[in-house]
Amino acid sequence: MIFNGHTKLNTVIGYPLSHSKSPLLHNFIYRRLNINAVMLALENPKIGLLARIIKNFPSGLTCVTMPFKQAIMPFLDSIDERAKAIGAVNTVINKKGKLFGFNTDIDGIAFALRKVKPKNKTVLLLGAGGAARAAAYFLGKSGAKILYLNRTQSKALRLKKEFGGVVINPADLSRHQASVIINATSVGMNPKIFKTPFDKKYLKKGQVVFDVIYSSQPTRLLKEAKQAGATAISGMDMFIGQALRQIELYTGKKMDVIKLSKTARKILSR
Ligand code: NAP
Repeated sequence: MIFNGHTKLNTVIGYPLSHSKSPLLHNFIYRRLNINAVMLALENPKIGLLARIIKNFPSGLTCVTMPFKQAIMPFLDSIDERAKAIGAVNTVINKKGKLFGFNTDIDGIAFALRKVKPKNKTVLLLGAGGAARAAAYFLGKSGAKILYLNRTQSKALRLKKEFGGVVINPADLSRHQASVIINATSVGMNPKIFKTPFDKKYLKKGQVVFDVIYSSQPTRLLKEAKQAGATAISGMDMFIGQALRQIELYTGKKMDVIKLSKTARKILSR
């Protein structure tokens, strides 16, 4: 791709941002699909300043990452229903100076779990932060039986109230048989890759274990899941799925997610 006078500027905003793989993935897809745009990282601790830049500069597509997924919301002109239900925006589209907010983490989770039919399955969801809220939304809509387990139980109780399901304690784990386990905590993330959020004694053959962490692959949880004979799903799939949906929202064109995800995975794991 040769940049010219028509090249659009897209951004990822967050603080800090050095960990972000969004520029790598987006710029790869733009080149691959001949989208005349470039993505740059705008790292700044001030969300008000970042919101003014993406509105006025303007940035056509903005990926929003930690810690701004909630903080960006008051600066937007419109927020779609799913993002409102989750209470977080990870995607902003600028259309003629108006900012529209979306949450594509749900699409990323749906892509990662595309071979798992969650309806009537018991799914153990670890965590109750932003990623867990997107997962609970998806699982609730899919008709799964959700078991919530979080260090801070009050946050899990809030999820139960909003998306249905049951809150459990670590002591209840041996009584509940979940066929799908989702780690939506940050335990096991770089640099503490030696940690796991879940004792391997509860991992079994036939289970599906999905870890939303995408930074260090495979995580300890996924390694132990494989050793136990379970199917391991990486957070990389979610990351790719959510990014491709962002590009669909930006271009208005449907992506061949399965095909693009194969090469995207190679780029991200380099
Ligand atoms: P968050 O809102 O800060 O939530 C973090 C969650 O982890 C909370 O439930 C927290 O429990 C729990 N937690 C943190 N440290 C813990 C510990 N030492 N022991 C037990 N629980 C602990 O973060 P988030 O935005 O949901 O992100 C969570 C993970 O998802 C991160 O690794 C992030 O990179 C990943 N993520 C991946 C994607 C993707 O595309 N693959 C997208 C979004 C996020 P408390 O409630 O008790 O604090």
